[in-house]
Amino acid sequence: MRRHVSLEEISDGRLYGKNDMVRACTGDCRGCSACCGGMGNSVILDPLDIYRLTVGLGLTFEELMADKIELNVVDGVILPNLKMSTGNETCAFLDEAGRCSIHAQRPGICRLFPLGRYYMPEEEAKPMAVSGSRTEDSPQRSAGSFRTEDSPRRSAGGFRYFLQVHECPMPNKTKVKVSKWIDTPELDRYERFVNDWHYFLEDVQKRLEAEQPCAPIRQPAEDGSADGAESERRGQPTDEEARKINLLLLKLFFARPYEEGDFYAQFEERLAFAKEALGFA
Ligand code: SF4
Ligand code: SF4
Repeated sequence: MRRHVSLEEISDGRLYGKNDMVRACTGDCRGCSACCGGMGNSVILDPLDIYRLTVGLGLTFEELMADKIELNVVDGVILPNLKMSTGNETCAFLDEAGRCSIHAQRPGICRLFPLGRYYMPEEEAKPMAVSGSRTEDSPQRSAGSFRTEDSPRRSAGGFRYFLQVHECPMPNKTKVKVSKWIDTPELDRYERFVNDWHYFLEDVQKRLEAEQPCAPIRQPAEDGSADGAESERRGQPTDEEARKINLLLLKLFFARPYEEGDFYAQFEERLAFAKEALGFA
């Protein structure tokens, strides 16, 4: 889900860190719910979002899949996203009063908006002016995956925040600290998770696009142990191997229930397993 735009066209030309002040605060949105509808499949969910929705709402992944979320292919990888209601095309969690019915469990992209994330090599992830670099993005509300077009893909890097200036119509926004706006506990761990997930997905996408040789793919066993079956062939992934990679990710990061408690420890364990299973370790 990439389009080529200049960051200067869609932002105020600045990149922000978590301790910076940014003119993003919409107050309580004053009855507006413009960004909770018409997003298509652009509000892509990450494992923390699924943790929040399953543990916080007491629903299984399968129950969410009934009418709240759906699966779509994003740059070759199958990922969940918020589902729009048929008819009025609004988020399934928007209530009749036009308010988010899951405010405490809302996904990371909803917490971020109208900010977005801009990914870059780690050594560049420091305060800087934007200088017309071309970017990839996902449209409107999502805005969660920008990176410099001419940077090589890499399995490590960093990100900064930017302000989308054309997406939220609320006038007279006030300044707010980025960390306060994102409203996420343990922000350092959260940012590390965001980074790890982003660059892991990039590696998976690179693998699916056959930019690197395919090592055997190991599926987790039903009981969650690491003793699953391996595919036998090495080389570029066939359709069947691509299906197995996607199945592995779906099972491991989304469908397998999370325990209430330390999400990040559970994620790191699953990520280590996935990296080993996919030959990234
Ligand atoms: S478009 Fe802006 S003001 Fe409206 S709900 Fe979204 S963030 Fe709030
Ligand atoms: S989860 Fe809440 S904030 Fe996010 S799009 Fe749906 S209704 Fe809006």
